Amino acid sequence: MIRHLLSAGDLDAATATLVLDTAQEMASLADREVKKLPTLRGRTVVNLFYEDSTRTRISFEAAAKRLSADVINFSAKGSSVSKGESLKDTALTLQAMGADAVVIRHSASGAPHRLANWIDGTVVNAGDGTHEHPTQALLDAYTMRSRLGRLSGLNVAIVGDVLHSRVARSNVLLLHTLGAKVTLVAPPTLLPVGVDAWPAETSYHLDSVLPDADVVMMLRVQRERMDQAYFPSAREYSRRYGLDGARMRRLPEHAIVMHPGPMNRGMEITPEVADSPRSTIVEQVANGVSVRMAVLYLLLGGKV
Ligand code: ASP
Repeated sequence: MIRHLLSAGDLDAATATLVLDTAQEMASLADREVKKLPTLRGRTVVNLFYEDSTRTRISFEAAAKRLSADVINFSAKGSSVSKGESLKDTALTLQAMGADAVVIRHSASGAPHRLANWIDGTVVNAGDGTHEHPTQALLDAYTMRSRLGRLSGLNVAIVGDVLHSRVARSNVLLLHTLGAKVTLVAPPTLLPVGVDAWPAETSYHLDSVLPDADVVMMLRVQRERMDQAYFPSAREYSRRYGLDGARMRRLPEHAIVMHPGPMNRGMEITPEVADSPRSTIVEQVANGVSVRMAVLYLLLGGKV
């Protein structure tokens, strides 16, 4: 039985599929007039966000509320964290308040793993540094499966700033488990050391990967994590690794374009592509709520 969701690697194929199937049931709720289930009534979910977030934070909040949990939103700004309180002391405070689950986003890779050692409740990693973002990978897999009908055998290209991307890491692990083939496309400077050991192919040439792709996932160029110049200029980056209308037209007819958000429109993706019918960007956000409901439901209900 799994108590925490810290890495996409925590999920075997059967468990990941159970999460996706449960998310599909949760999604059917969204069409009803009353969107709530009583499942987590009386349970407390704390959203502990040390790093900025729009989608993930709102999504976890909506998910927990739709399951009738009590939700406490904690952001580092305006809390004693800005007075220097450590993660451990904050964890002990949450523990004393009886948190059943803590959803944590932190700029330090590994912070959720530490937290899991300090508290009795369930810990869900909502993004740790450049390390992992497992619920993003689950919502991406859900979106691929609902648009393309399967995951096994899909060719998925993940393009751009792989080096700083926790989305890429979690997606590679989960998609591999579920039988998809992943190609990481990036300039050599934006691929991590040791990428050869990942269960994925690598390429420096976007144009050669596009004709065979079922899915193209564009990554945000994460300037806030860049401490040096990784490419000559934004223009040069877009020219080689950006997805514009002309490149999109080289994709097979059925192929979809994804982006986890927030987008740098005009950098890794043009508005024409982002707003096209192939783009699943808005769907990904909607699916995120159903997937996070499934994760909280299964973990807190002891069902995985
Ligand atoms: N929103 C995603 C994350 O938090 C992707 C990104 O920030 O580029 O990892």
